[in-house]
Amino acid sequence: MSSSVLRADAVHKSFNGTEVLKGIDLDVAEGEVVCLIGASGSGKSTLLRCLNLLEQVDDGDIWLGDAEITDPRIDVDAIRRRIGIVFQAYNLFPHKTVLDNIVLAPVKAGGRSRAEAASTALELLARIGLEDRAGAYPDALSGGQQQRVALVRAIAMRPEVLLLDEITSALDPMLVGEVLDVIRDLRTEGMTIVMATHEMAFAREVADRIVFMADGRIEESGPPDQLFTAPQSARTAEFLARHR
Ligand code: ADP
Ligand code: MG
Repeated sequence: MSSSVLRADAVHKSFNGTEVLKGIDLDVAEGEVVCLIGASGSGKSTLLRCLNLLEQVDDGDIWLGDAEITDPRIDVDAIRRRIGIVFQAYNLFPHKTVLDNIVLAPVKAGGRSRAEAASTALELLARIGLEDRAGAYPDALSGGQQQRVALVRAIAMRPEVLLLDEITSALDPMLVGEVLDVIRDLRTEGMTIVMATHEMAFAREVADRIVFMADGRIEESGPPDQLFTAPQSARTAEFLARHR
């Protein structure tokens, strides 16, 4: 029996009177990789942002382990330290070196010494083959290298779960693979991941579960082999036919 790391119960969210999340139930187990797929505008990013408390839910609740993080009395900063998030682009601070980008949060918010944080950062950079770029500024790196650094920066905080929002979709196709490789490694190490992605082949390979969103609802979810080969809903089938 694996335990629940992150759970959304009947989450609703509206913007200016338009409901974009219409009752989302999602339970993510420890070590599970969940891929959110669905058309643009279906609510994937909003869901990820709600899970990280970047958006306040209107109704329903969200749990991180046994803490209800949508409780208004919660310490939002403390919760965010336990949940890593990487976006499509512009993740790194442009005026800080790669090393400083990675050590900033562990030192400022994680209470670690700079020396300890730097040594961990260099180890993590070595694992993605970028230790020689520790002193470089982000704009000297390729987009793929920047996203790999952004992933390393997120995991340097040792989050309980990692949320990834289309982190390869702004990249030159040549650079997508190296970023996906890092996600593969994180999965192998047992990281719990919820990722929105357009990379269907990758989702199929790496996900334990695919969640197909349509119009602010979970239309269908299931193991990749089942969802991709024998979707239950006509709407899922139609989406998949258009996204081969
Ligand atoms: P996806 O990530 O699946 O493309 P989003 O979560 O970004 O979908 O968007 C879902 C819907 O919510 C869209 O109609 C979008 O325009 C709307 N939306 C998202 N964020 C905001 C916001 N801050 N203000 C107003 N509308 C928003
Ligand atoms: Mg999005």
